[in-house]
Amino acid sequence: MATGMVSGANPKPNDSPKDAAVQGLGSLIMDCDIKELYYGTFKAVRDTAIPIKKNAITAFIGPSGCGKSTVLRCLNRMNDLVRGFRLVGQIRYRGRDLYDPEIDPVAVRRYIGMVFQQPNPFSTSIFNNVAFGLRINQYKGNKAAKVEQALQRAALWDEVKDKLNANGLSLSGGQQQRLCIARAVATDPEVLLMDEPASALDPIATRRIEELMLELKERYTIAIVTHNLQQATRVSDKVAFMYVDTSGGGRTGHLVEFGNTKEVFGNPKEEATKAYVRGEFS
Ligand code: ADP
Repeated sequence: MATGMVSGANPKPNDSPKDAAVQGLGSLIMDCDIKELYYGTFKAVRDTAIPIKKNAITAFIGPSGCGKSTVLRCLNRMNDLVRGFRLVGQIRYRGRDLYDPEIDPVAVRRYIGMVFQQPNPFSTSIFNNVAFGLRINQYKGNKAAKVEQALQRAALWDEVKDKLNANGLSLSGGQQQRLCIARAVATDPEVLLMDEPASALDPIATRRIEELMLELKERYTIAIVTHNLQQATRVSDKVAFMYVDTSGGGRTGHLVEFGNTKEVFGNPKEEATKAYVRGEFS
């Protein structure tokens, strides 16, 4: 894995990270240890350590502005694109610090893919949407087979197999989101980051995405930001509750509680978690 992410090295599509031995990490695939995180002079997050377990779904929950998306975006260096972003701490993927200057952020995003809140297919064919990442990574194998495989994994193949040349934007919202998931999985990532992937969808499409997540976790590791506590209960194995106490004028979010979903919802340890899962604030 790590060789494929080092700057200057061309990540080889067949060089699957799954083949690499995970040494000394047990079932952890990522280890997020944020001491401080800044946007310019604003400290957005502090003291947030979240272990990400392989083939599990980890949900980030908490009130708006507590830093859930910020932390999620750190996991594949998406915040690098934000001016003034600065991280004190480490994000380790398979034991390697993703913020090591030797690491190529573009290659990181091949191994750690992302799906956004608003489905964002490109205005091109369904096929090209899915093949996009393969092209970027100069995939030399059978593109058509890879596109079909990705659409199968995103549970979209049956609905689109006869219209692969249709524009991705002609699909329904739920289908567009599954197309984006197909695009993300086409490059054989190991981790999928999902930032409120169903919040723009109707309840039926939302359920479809949730079912799909449960299927995908057999093969991938998933971290999801969600505002929907029922959704976190339905899909996640682990929950990280973040909070920002604004009463004293503070705006810095931090991790309050992390644990198994059943325990965090059924028997929370911290008062703030208790109040949040009871729905006392949102
Ligand atoms: P959440 O996902 O929990 O709603 P965010 O991670 O979006 O929270 O935001 C956490 C804090 O960081 C907020 O105060 C937000 O205004 C700030 N923030 C988020 N993105 C940026 C950015 N690109 N530049 C400056 N501040 C940002």
